[in-house]
Amino acid sequence: MKIKEKYINGIKIDPNIFLFKFGCRCNGECCHYGVYTDLKESEHILSIKNKIIPLMDETQSKNISDWFEPPEEDEDFESGVAVGTEIINNKCAFLDKNGLCVLQRLALQEGEHKWKYKPIYCILFPLTIYQNTLTIDDEHIDRLNYCNKFPISDTTIFDACKEEIHYFLGDEGFQELLNYKDEVLSQLQNGVLSDGNKK
Ligand code: SF4
Ligand code: SF4
Repeated sequence: MKIKEKYINGIKIDPNIFLFKFGCRCNGECCHYGVYTDLKESEHILSIKNKIIPLMDETQSKNISDWFEPPEEDEDFESGVAVGTEIINNKCAFLDKNGLCVLQRLALQEGEHKWKYKPIYCILFPLTIYQNTLTIDDEHIDRLNYCNKFPISDTTIFDACKEEIHYFLGDEGFQELLNYKDEVLSQLQNGVLSDGNKK
């Protein structure tokens, strides 16, 4: 018997997020590879370029044509088109020399929510949306040198990313997720997990 499927806000939930052990304690290596944004997100970032550019330093490019890769079709993105951020000086075009994201710095400077301008995949990592499922971005975690390589506790990826998941699902969706978590853990205690649910 498999754990029953759960969709919240139209997104399937991978129950492994309640089990996978994860500790986030490096200096942001995940930003060294850039990120795929939705076309709409990249357009919005470009529309506020005049606020972003003054926050950039000499390790970044203030030429907006250097910020993004060419768009490509991708169904995991709302608009059906993904646009990667460029890598400049071995880091995302938006990462400053101090390891801070200028999109987050801008939001904080304006007194807005810290993630207002950040692409959703930046917020979610080490989680991701793959084939319409909120799941673990194990492919990216595995290729990083430090990410989760020194597990420190029994913390799960769900525990480590609660704030991010809450932000993504909203209050109601997050409550649904907590209920689903209880269901999954109780099924596990009763020995219901099948191989199909194991990573
Ligand atoms: S998610 Fe991984 S790579 Fe990013 S800061 Fe945390 S441990 Fe480092
Ligand atoms: S946009 Fe910001 S958070 Fe996302 S990868 Fe680039 S520097 Fe990191």
